[in-house]
Amino acid sequence: MIIHLENNISEESESTIKSSIETLGFTHNEVTTQYGRYFVCIGKKSIDLRSIGHLSGVKDIHKVSDPYKLVSGKWKVGKSEITIGGDLKIGNGNFQIMAGPCSIENEDQIKSTIDHLKKSNISIMRGGVYKPRSSPYSFRGLGIEGLKLWHDIASAEGIKIITEVMQVSQIKEMYDYVDIFQVGARNSQNFNLLDELGKVDKPVLLKRGISGTIEELLQSAEYIFSNGNEDIILCERGIRSFESAYRNTMDINAITILKDRSHLPVVADPSHGIGVRKYVDSIAFASVAAGADGIIMEVHSCPQKALSDGQQTLDYRQSAEAIDKILKVREVIV
Ligand code: PEP
Ligand code: MN
Repeated sequence: MIIHLENNISEESESTIKSSIETLGFTHNEVTTQYGRYFVCIGKKSIDLRSIGHLSGVKDIHKVSDPYKLVSGKWKVGKSEITIGGDLKIGNGNFQIMAGPCSIENEDQIKSTIDHLKKSNISIMRGGVYKPRSSPYSFRGLGIEGLKLWHDIASAEGIKIITEVMQVSQIKEMYDYVDIFQVGARNSQNFNLLDELGKVDKPVLLKRGISGTIEELLQSAEYIFSNGNEDIILCERGIRSFESAYRNTMDINAITILKDRSHLPVVADPSHGIGVRKYVDSIAFASVAAGADGIIMEVHSCPQKALSDGQQTLDYRQSAEAIDKILKVREVIV
């Protein structure tokens, strides 16, 4: 059960609500976010919601039996709309493409990517400065200095930055240079990291774990929300399966299901989702047709020379064509 509180609730009303919850045999968790205050109540009993709904200070009350509550679509009328900065929004009918290299490599690469994005009218650049790599001997990113350089160039061009944060200690040092924090597949259930990102007032794009279920992804999102940050974007990036004809199995089903079960925007990552350059565009189109609110994909001036994930990275010509078609598919389905 979720009790949505009035923002200006009096202390007296709050304690009346708390004692009513207790009397009914429920425990409650208090959640305060940048947008509202909630009591998330846990208990087995089925109650008449009106017994609490009529109390002063209650904005709304909802029965949500899912293991995730605040990210569930069951309590919120309509979809969440997340502001990335200025007029740039995602969700609730707002669609965004985020593109850029797997790894930020150098100044020239940053500049040429931004040129490419601007030609295609894209305002959000992706790129990793902290890279989770299967082998410790692979390129692991330029770190905070790379992010500062990227931010200097991107902010002067009006381009927003999405990049992966791998551990709690990086949040603070990255904060001033990031517009969206990305949580990678390998950290999808790093609950300490999720807790801390819940205390940040910037959007978080949360990827599905390599072997994570849809329900696990939603529960991970609940960690962020219940710590105070409602600005969460879910991301389907493929799961590991028995199939070996490609890198990951892009779960297009998950896009539709996440959109149905949650009010949060859902982005698709076809680059990691299939992991093979020549199929990335088709999977992006399928994701948009399934209802994705955005696409995040890897592009590089010369994918063959990319320091990571070149095999699934589009060059600028392929990317421009894909972007054009993605927008056409989107037009057809909305
Ligand atoms: C990435 O976005 O480059 C990345 C490492 O993604 P994932 O966490 O989905 O593997
Ligand atoms: Mn990558």
